[in-house]
Amino acid sequence: MIPFQGMSLGKHKFSIVCDNTFFEAMQLSEVQDGAIVLEIEMEKQAHLLQFVFNFKGTIKVECDRCLDEMDLDLDFSKHLTVKILSEKSTEIHQEDDEIWMVGEDVHELNFEHFVYEAILCEIPLQHVHADRNSCNTEMLKRLEMIQNVEEETQTDPRWDALKTLKTKL
Ligand SMILES: [Zn+2]
Repeated sequence: MIPFQGMSLGKHKFSIVCDNTFFEAMQLSEVQDGAIVLEIEMEKQAHLLQFVFNFKGTIKVECDRCLDEMDLDLDFSKHLTVKILSEKSTEIHQEDDEIWMVGEDVHELNFEHFVYEAILCEIPLQHVHADRNSCNTEMLKRLEMIQNVEEETQTDPRWDALKTLKTKL
């Protein structure tokens, strides 16, 4: 929460730590835990706020290969421009994830959701332990067994038909 209204024009800096309290509060979670230092630079102009969010730290996510918890290091920046409209309103309109328009009666901005989304966007589609040896080997064995059983039971009649077709050719 940044109460920008009462602040002087010019540059301001804030620093926040997003830890497990933050991730648990967000609830929607692919991420349950982590420690990210978030530094926010704000440049305030008469009708414009320019933000740079610098994220640096580690979050805990599930490894796609063994389902164990793994550390994912993050180090990235996000920009956000907030335009202050000259109309009496407390509405916050998000043009896209980099531009917001707010009425002049908005006195503070809550970035919780923005920050959370930004972190989620940085999680690669595939995330596995960098080294296969760090994976939970017990779990890998079990997953392999399940997969084999599935393959054996999957005799789709269409595949059988295709096979006979192949032999005919
Ligand atoms: Zn793993």
